[in-house]
Amino acid sequence: MTERWLDITDVQAQGREFVFDDQELWAEGAGEFDMEFATQTPLSATFTVTPETDGALVRGRLTGMLSVPCDRCTAPTEVKIDQRFDLFEQVPKHGEEVLEPSLVRRRGHRLELDVNGLLWEEFVLALPVKPLCSENCKGLCPECGQDLNAGGCGCSEKQLDPRMAALRGLTIVKKDHS
Ligand SMILES: [Zn+2]
Ligand SMILES: [Zn+2]
Repeated sequence: MTERWLDITDVQAQGREFVFDDQELWAEGAGEFDMEFATQTPLSATFTVTPETDGALVRGRLTGMLSVPCDRCTAPTEVKIDQRFDLFEQVPKHGEEVLEPSLVRRRGHRLELDVNGLLWEEFVLALPVKPLCSENCKGLCPECGQDLNAGGCGCSEKQLDPRMAALRGLTIVKKDHS
């Protein structure tokens, strides 16, 4: 991920709002991390930076709409991104060992924030681990690859996948409660 350092040196104590809707970041991230998604509603971030003695407070929100492949059947699945964040980033002290690179740094008298690092981090947090086109998605047949949402194939009758049986069990329990 290309770092993009935003100069926040002159931000006053009450903070300043920034808006980012450059879509290049998401295309770059998708390529770099080999992720498959398309933005349906462009991702947009609004955040406020408030300087602190040894770092900065960053509060904001990232929103947009994506299309990602369903984890079970690969059908295009809409995922709404609405991620709020509220973090304090400390400027690493000189010579200090850091576990995670900070999103803020000091360059001479300037204080800078890595916008791309911040937004990509929040974007990844907002993504569902296993996006599903529907809670009841039957997925693809592991034998022949048929989309089981469109109808059964012969394979399932021959041999019942125990994992699929477990999923069916869960679905039935849910239905009983509703
Ligand atoms: Zn699906
Ligand atoms: Zn099959």
